[in-house]
Amino acid sequence: MIVTGHPPRNPQKTRPPGRLAVAVLPVLERARQRRESRLRKLVAGNWKMNGLRADGLALARALVARAAAGDPPDCALAVFPPATLLISVGETLRGSGIALGAQDCHAEARGAHTGDVAAPMLKDAGCSYVIVGHSERRTAHGETDATVRAKAVAARTAGLVPVLCVGESLAERERGEALEVVAAQLAGSLPEGLAAEEIVVAYEPVWAIGTGRTPTAEDVAAMHAHLRRGLEAAVKGGAGVPILYGGSVKASNARELLSVPSVDGALVGGASLNAAEFWAIAQSCP
Ligand code: PEP
Repeated sequence: MIVTGHPPRNPQKTRPPGRLAVAVLPVLERARQRRESRLRKLVAGNWKMNGLRADGLALARALVARAAAGDPPDCALAVFPPATLLISVGETLRGSGIALGAQDCHAEARGAHTGDVAAPMLKDAGCSYVIVGHSERRTAHGETDATVRAKAVAARTAGLVPVLCVGESLAERERGEALEVVAAQLAGSLPEGLAAEEIVVAYEPVWAIGTGRTPTAEDVAAMHAHLRRGLEAAVKGGAGVPILYGGSVKASNARELLSVPSVDGALVGGASLNAAEFWAIAQSCP
């Protein structure tokens, strides 16, 4: 209930709310508070290297149509198309409330780096976010924690929010090293001097990405609590940094994963390529 501090102009004329209003108003008010709160979860779709222009635009249009159709999900939404589609998808998303992000950036702002894209270019293309340190880049492109940190710094300098990915391999989990490995990745890739609203962290166990396997809700909660401790030590207001879960999130498991209180949202790969599935995941935000 909003308390303005002002008494009603004419108390005699103020009618008590009806039974329906009594039931519905608190629900609507909680929804409003969640919508306006920084605690709102973020559901982000990483399209990876998928989609020609027609596919990307059709997907973006389908999401915009759902956003306009009423009954929006109670979470923030973002999509991360391939670089070739950023501008056209961004134009399609304009005014929809769905944010645009890129999948990677170079650590330099410009220069002789054939084939790379700089963070200021992404900002100029309409992005608000950029993923850094995705395990596919750490593995296939040999990106180290130092590389990832330099990219995150470049992103911040350009005014983008980096979505910093960390996650252990299956072998590391089986050796019981998951917490330690992921904490070390975070410490090694997190830029110094950030405020909470300047970064998003995504816990993505490598063995869960694209495999259909997911950790248990208990394992996710334990990892997120561990990451939270690291963030509180390293970031001003670290308690407010969103920590997403990523790895085989689908409509069928989204509610369970998103209901873990320390999960501030989801980074969704394969399932984000289908508008209905992505929307169903977003609708699963508690
Ligand atoms: C990802 O690669 O960021 C990801 C979460 O992929 P998927 O959902 O397909 O496992």
